Amino acid sequence: MPILEARRLTKVYRRGASEVRAVDGITLSVEPGEFMAIMGRSGSGKTTLLDLLGCLLRPTDGELEIDGRSVIGASDGELASIRRERIGFVFQEFNLIPSLTAIENVLLPLRYGRRRRDAKRRATQLLELVGLASRASHRPTELSGGEQQRVAIARALVNEPAVILADEPTGELDSTTSDTLMGTLRDLNRERGVTMIIVTHDDAIAGATDRVVRLTDGRVVADEASGSRAFRRALSGERPNGRDGRVWARLGGLLERARSR
Ligand code: ADP
Ligand code: MG
Repeated sequence: MPILEARRLTKVYRRGASEVRAVDGITLSVEPGEFMAIMGRSGSGKTTLLDLLGCLLRPTDGELEIDGRSVIGASDGELASIRRERIGFVFQEFNLIPSLTAIENVLLPLRYGRRRRDAKRRATQLLELVGLASRASHRPTELSGGEQQRVAIARALVNEPAVILADEPTGELDSTTSDTLMGTLRDLNRERGVTMIIVTHDDAIAGATDRVVRLTDGRVVADEASGSRAFRRALSGERPNGRDGRVWARLGGLLERARSR
């Protein structure tokens, strides 16, 4: 069962007499454990789509199911609990609270009622997981950009979400730091099965994922396996169909030539 399923999902913003179809009838299915990128120019609807998938915004039209259940008729309270229990958000600007330490920032989204000591142990484990155990009591201003973003990832994980939605998470980072961050996200995906949806401008980031969805004017114009997965499949001799087929054909041809030498 898909973890996220959008059908003809639409978001229209009205500005005076004119309207902007920020997301214009997107149909998209995401399986548990996928590691995918959403690309497109500025203004193509990436953030709006991510916010719709994460139930931060309500669509104007269309259907959205999470874990096979429609969220269209859900109340604000139900949407808030879906966000809290199933989804972790990571933003370009980190959005950490400056007056709180790293561990306090990680603890922030935790449900009330969890026992304090448990919560603290959990947050410490998450900081370890992202390689920041020694920075637990530092405030954001005492951390580098990459470190702040890793705190934000630990925070996104604290409620054990099934999906992480990241909006240009490497946008403020240099390329070495962003490679490290992508490594962290990939490990979380592999080891914990967290579904990752990453909005990015950067071909290198998209190339490190398994699937790339491209948007133009609020519509999906391409949805295909990115190089890495197609390449692994081609190496294993598996012939994919559907959206992987085209990439496979390209890489498979290259491999055949290399093998016959
Ligand atoms: P991206 O993240 O790809 O840059 P966005 O989803 O932010 O794109 O925006 C898509 C389109 O919707 C743009 O034309 C943008 O100006 C418009 N838009 C986004 N948010 C709003 C809003 N709150 N009110 C009106 N228009 C908006
Ligand atoms: Mg955006």
